[in-house]
Amino acid sequence: MIRRARAAGLLLLCTTASLRAQTGTGALEAQLPSLAGAARAHALTELTDQLKNDSPRKAIEYGTEALAFYATHPEPAYQVRTLDEIAWAYMIVSDYANASASATKGRDLAEKVGDIKGLARALNNLGVIDQRRGDGPGAMTLFEASLRLYRQAGLQLEIAAELNNLGFVASSMLADYDRALAYQLEALKIREALGDENAIALSMNNIGIIYDRTGDFDKAIECFRQSLELRKGTNAQNRIAATLTNLGDVYLEKGDLQKALDAQQQALALRRQVGDPEGTAFSLSRLGKVYTRMGRYDLARQDLDEALAAAEKTGDKNTIANTLLGLSEVALRQNRAREAVQLATRATGLAQQTSLRDVYRRALEALSAAQEKAGDAAGALASFKTFKEENDRIFDEEKSKRLENVEQRYELEKREAEIERLKGAEAERALDADRHQLQLNVTIGATVLLGVIGFGVYRRRVESARIAEQLSITDSLTGLKNRRYVMQTIGADLAAIQRRRRGALPADAADADLVFLLIDIDRFKSVNDEFGHRAGDAVLTQIAAILREICRASDTLVRWGGEEFLIVSRFADRRRASAFAERVRSEIEREAFSIGDGRTIHRTCSIGFASYPFSLAAPDALSWEQIVAVADDALYIAKRTGANAWVGVSASPSATEEALRKRSSNSLERWIGEGVVLTESSRESVVDSR
Ligand code: GH3
Ligand code: MG
Ligand code: MG
Repeated sequence: MIRRARAAGLLLLCTTASLRAQTGTGALEAQLPSLAGAARAHALTELTDQLKNDSPRKAIEYGTEALAFYATHPEPAYQVRTLDEIAWAYMIVSDYANASASATKGRDLAEKVGDIKGLARALNNLGVIDQRRGDGPGAMTLFEASLRLYRQAGLQLEIAAELNNLGFVASSMLADYDRALAYQLEALKIREALGDENAIALSMNNIGIIYDRTGDFDKAIECFRQSLELRKGTNAQNRIAATLTNLGDVYLEKGDLQKALDAQQQALALRRQVGDPEGTAFSLSRLGKVYTRMGRYDLARQDLDEALAAAEKTGDKNTIANTLLGLSEVALRQNRAREAVQLATRATGLAQQTSLRDVYRRALEALSAAQEKAGDAAGALASFKTFKEENDRIFDEEKSKRLENVEQRYELEKREAEIERLKGAEAERALDADRHQLQLNVTIGATVLLGVIGFGVYRRRVESARIAEQLSITDSLTGLKNRRYVMQTIGADLAAIQRRRRGALPADAADADLVFLLIDIDRFKSVNDEFGHRAGDAVLTQIAAILREICRASDTLVRWGGEEFLIVSRFADRRRASAFAERVRSEIEREAFSIGDGRTIHRTCSIGFASYPFSLAAPDALSWEQIVAVADDALYIAKRTGANAWVGVSASPSATEEALRKRSSNSLERWIGEGVVLTESSRESVVDSR
């Protein structure tokens, strides 16, 4: 599955001033002709601040006049504020040179006169400029510095805005989702307390992005819709446009092309209206992507070319890289493989240069596909391996552990009290209901988070704690990957296999299979019943260790359910699967599991396996999920015929695609009977195979 990096620096919230009612703007402008000297300059400063988002060019004009006055009549406080706000307006129109120059002047002056708030604001602006120029780590450093100052000054609104910025860059540029979540949640907590709807709308938007990244599209849509709802009637056009863009992206990912098109077109219109070149380029790039998926390649190229030209003008590397990827996709679909390689190579280089981790990851994937189609198998494999590494780095275990600890940053005592309470009756019940300890902890964290943050009316919709749950890809009892990880990464594995098979490989190539091995511990419940849950947990941990020993680095080892494990063996040979299964079976049978107090017990396991593609003759007949279901049925046969055994299933060479597709849930035996599939087993007698 493809996770995407998103640009839209527009989402970054400016601080106090933008939140001030805009109602005074018209009246103030009307007064201008009657004002002179310092009074006029002050009014101009105020207007610069009020207009910077929605009429940035006007704001620049007013701010420039004010600064000219202050040059001869120094008033540091007003000067700093004007410099800060005019910098923002320059940034909105993507004039980064002037934005940076004004913000730097503001920073230096603020430092000189000890204007903490002005200094923090200037640092914030410099951070946003860095972010827009594609320097994520640089932006983080500046935002952190700004946050420290705001914390010193105790300015809640600004603290929340800075946390928001940090969270945004962490998720959209650095693909650092646990950190992003922590920032967003703290920001939301403050905003909720302040009752600031605009800012809550922004938080919802950004939390929606995290949902989107973790593949929970319906929740993401709900967040974006809620965010739009809160902004209805305001004239925050830029931010409405950004949310529409995000909404369009989710629809695209869901395959709802018409809705994606509508959202992106609306966003583009708004951005053109505001006169935001960077946002316009970004929207055009998105539109191009939608058209590509619709197969309307001419329209796609037109928009993507325009987007590229515009983005190159503003220097927005994120949009440039994304657009190059878009163009590469079109080229690939139109069978211009070499051009696709070139474009993807450029995107890869650009993303690597900047800190756009997720773009880099996707660029590598695209590059690998293009290289393969261009006949460069070695290059394709190399790119794919780098992609895989990058993928694993983004979704790594350390991070997901930290993610699980996110809630601890909030109200530790409350959490502990809650745990104590839950440790009573409910904990036992939860365990009996086949929930392992860790899931319980996550639930506790979730409950507390919801209580602590107090989303108020938005709570039901946002369910922030579920995000933490969503984001976790590691099972904490065993440290193995969980189901979510498989969902997130299997797409790339399947694509790699398909590419290998489509290429010049012989049909029986030794390393072009994906083998799914499903392992279930026999009579595991009795471990709990006789020796307690702790002993059960200990056995599970030791089983995980054994499996880890057996697996290769390229295998994915997953805790699939309570006492069920799944091994996804990559670059594998289906003919070696039975030997692998036998090794798992015998090593578990042999082990003496310690259950404390020096006692040991023995357990066995049953295994079912099947490979992807299920049939080499009809590779698309069964999806990977269906193949895992076949492995599950095979496991059941192993179990039913005495356990401590393995059963493997594969399509018989004579099986037709139609027969394979027709499989219903209880028909593995029928399939076997009809000769559609072949089985192999550790026990000669268990399956009536022909
Ligand atoms: P079978 O041989 O048919 O597989 O029987 P079984 O007892 O292994 O299977 P069953 O599905 O009936 O029971 C699985 C048990 O695993 C029930 C549940 O209490 C236990 N279990 C699941 N997860 C955990 C866990 O994390 N820790 C502990 N201690 N027990 C767990
Ligand atoms: Mg079971
Ligand atoms: Mg079992």
